[in-house]
Amino acid sequence: MIIMIRCFGCGKPIGHLWEDYKKRIDAKEDAGAVLTDLGVERYCCRAALLGHADMIHEVTKFKKA
Ligand SMILES: [Zn+2]
Repeated sequence: MIIMIRCFGCGKPIGHLWEDYKKRIDAKEDAGAVLTDLGVERYCCRAALLGHADMIHEVTKFKKA
């Protein structure tokens, strides 16, 4: 779905970093370097961004019941 606002592990706000992260990953930058550059240092937050699959566009194709 959409990226979580805060990290589930530590509570650090990470939602605002997603757009920048995605843009830089799509430009073939190294994911680890991007996360470090964005100030995401704890492994819980890094895992939250690295493991996120943005499914909102697929989900919105279906109508509500
Ligand atoms: Zn965290």
